[in-house]
Amino acid sequence: MSRGRFAPSPTGNLHLGSARTALAAWLVARAGGGSFVLRMEDLDRPRVVPGAAERICEDLRWLGLDWDEGPDVGGIHAPYRQSERSALYGQALDRLSSLGLTYPCFCSRADVARAASAPHGPADDGPAYPGSCRDLPAEEVRKRLAERRPAALRFRVPEGEIAFVDGARGAVRNHPAKHGDFIVRRADGLYAYHLAVVADDVEMAIEQVVRGEDLLESTARQILLYRALSAAPPAFAHVPLVLGPDGQRLAKRHGSIAIRDVRQRGVAPEAVCGALAASLGLCGEGDRLRPADLVGGFGLDRVSHQPPRLDPSKWLSSP
Ligand code: GLU
Repeated sequence: MSRGRFAPSPTGNLHLGSARTALAAWLVARAGGGSFVLRMEDLDRPRVVPGAAERICEDLRWLGLDWDEGPDVGGIHAPYRQSERSALYGQALDRLSSLGLTYPCFCSRADVARAASAPHGPADDGPAYPGSCRDLPAEEVRKRLAERRPAALRFRVPEGEIAFVDGARGAVRNHPAKHGDFIVRRADGLYAYHLAVVADDVEMAIEQVVRGEDLLESTARQILLYRALSAAPPAFAHVPLVLGPDGQRLAKRHGSIAIRDVRQRGVAPEAVCGALAASLGLCGEGDRLRPADLVGGFGLDRVSHQPPRLDPSKWLSSP
């Protein structure tokens, strides 16, 4: 059994690349006879687009994907929207703090602002935190807190290597300390992505995380949180990102990259699913199929490790 999840951020319409990741995550869960969870990662409120969560659900269903638990169907781990799960993040944070693994940080830096969103690459990660507030004397911390200076909370990242076997990439080694101590709660009280995603995956008993390769760098930091919370990390698999015809990461300038746009142009779901599956190396170009057609015989080892190129303009000519 392999209980998996897809955890989109409702900051816009479902992108072809995210739909492809969802398909891969769904296939891993279903081929393993496991259940599949949909979780909306809407912590970063200013970036949330009204109605996007509902449209993401509709587009996933249109593609032929389903889930056993999620914001629209409920389940024993409800709620499935991060914005409604703050109490759980507070408990996880208390646990870390009681172990002496967090400290208040009074620096006002852009990475503090960014912390609520998943870092999709080095630019999102920002420069490594130099540790300015790591060893502030207790008296100084008390004084600043008494002055009501806004403080974020950071996790103390230990030196050393984290090694894990990625289901798509093989052996991965990483030194999370190179990013410095990361934010677990912003000064405005908002919980950070790394803390929320780990607390949720632990509470939701997720066994297999399949997500985009841009989050590979985050995994070592998340493994540190699993360890600190005395929880077993899930198996991870990071699938390559989709590139446009020019070899650059697929983006709006390449044309219609949202499932919604492709749908509105009358392209059949079987054609879209076939193209996504072909880009994963699971069927031939131009095949039309439903996700359920791919479950038999599926294994992560069959997924292509080459970053696929998709030309959105081609899709629109084949309803
Ligand atoms: N919510 C994150 C995103 O949209 C994904 C987090 C994850 O899969 O761990 O990028």
